[in-house]
Amino acid sequence: PKYTKSDILKKAQELDVKFIRLQFTDILGIIKNVTITVEQLEDALDGKIMFDGSSIEGFTRIQESDMYLRPDYDTFCILPWRPRRGAEARLMCDIYTTDQEPFIGCPRTILKKVCDEAKAMGYEFQVGPEPEFFLFQLGEDGRPTIKTNDRGGYFDLSPVDLGENARRDIVLALEEMGFEVEAAHHEVAPGQHEIDFKYAPALRTADNIVTFKFVTKAIAMEHGLYATFMPKPIFGENGSGMHLHMSLFKDGVNAFYDPEDRETGLSQIAKYFIGGILHHVKGFTAITNPTVNSYKRLVPGYEAPVYISWSSKNRSALVRVPAARGNASRIELRSPDPSANPYLALAVILAAGLDGIKNKIEPGPQTFDNIYEMTPAERLAQGIENLPGTLKEALEYLSKDEVIKKALGPHAYEHFVKAKLIEWDTYKTQVHQWELDQYLPIF
Ligand code: GLN
Ligand code: MG
Ligand code: MG
Ligand code: MG
Repeated sequence: PKYTKSDILKKAQELDVKFIRLQFTDILGIIKNVTITVEQLEDALDGKIMFDGSSIEGFTRIQESDMYLRPDYDTFCILPWRPRRGAEARLMCDIYTTDQEPFIGCPRTILKKVCDEAKAMGYEFQVGPEPEFFLFQLGEDGRPTIKTNDRGGYFDLSPVDLGENARRDIVLALEEMGFEVEAAHHEVAPGQHEIDFKYAPALRTADNIVTFKFVTKAIAMEHGLYATFMPKPIFGENGSGMHLHMSLFKDGVNAFYDPEDRETGLSQIAKYFIGGILHHVKGFTAITNPTVNSYKRLVPGYEAPVYISWSSKNRSALVRVPAARGNASRIELRSPDPSANPYLALAVILAAGLDGIKNKIEPGPQTFDNIYEMTPAERLAQGIENLPGTLKEALEYLSKDEVIKKALGPHAYEHFVKAKLIEWDTYKTQVHQWELDQYLPIF
């Protein structure tokens, strides 16, 4: 660990911290926080701060609602855009029960459990994310619109790219909070951006993703813009994905690299890991793509994956092998989107990969052709299947995948599915504008 309790107490004093936000996420990955004053910091560091778990999506019932927040000291940092006199800091927390046990429905705890399984096999899971998002104008009523600020495209520069200033301030804030930002650029769609930060062990990366989202929203708001991680806000434009670059390290060495493999540079472990992902991807898509809207992104024509395949050459594949070799050897999973709860997403992906290693699941042959140009019959002949087409379909695959259900644990699984079925049913019974446009003039 980076910090001890006394380090944090000292830092809080040095940095003139007055408020500390104790943060965690609910089952859907929505960040929550309770703010305490510095006078209570010592109690908070000892895990003595309580909250009502029954008010949090997917936590407990009313009868057993007292829960404790136990901070991860290493997540201590200042919120750089807030005042510096009487500054604000945050700590990411695990949820504990009144019996002082880790709460099994806490997303952070769920990810830690799967990481421990990897550790028992000798592996540390490293992940680098590429979250994409849109910056939209706020309406006169202060509510977000889907009007973009610019007509920019991939890698465009200002003055086309009016999001540039907001993006710059987001990067500066992240760096002050300890992020190593690797790249920031305009994405393909108007108003769409991407910020990539350096890979880290999975738990740290999940914390970083959650932090990244609330920092981005806060800084965008200071520029009068609304940042959204909704996967497909505009029909006819690219959606927002969150590609994940992943590898396993063993004793500090990348276990995915094998210089002997001339074709891919990947070890057998890496291939089994890919095999596990391809085998379980239908089962975990409800977690990595958890909204009705997620499935409007996973359609042909917008650089998002639709078919289940892997390739070291082809960007249209679900799993791509980037050209980097050595300790940078990795695989890129292109289906997840930023509406996912990153803790649960990394937990199920890791569980899938580890299952591939345990059961020696071969990934099968790579696809070299552009899958999108193949006919359905050609895809069938090569055994290339589709990702689930709707949230409902994804939930059905999830219900049949015991490895993924086990990684989530029964508590999170049941609460997640219950919430998502309600979401699906509400959506399904709506009458959408498209239906009115399509049917009203005819019938
Ligand atoms: N926005 C695309 C997606 O939905 C990805 C575009 C890119 O990074 N090349 O995944
Ligand atoms: Mg990218
Ligand atoms: Mg991108
Ligand atoms: Mg990418």
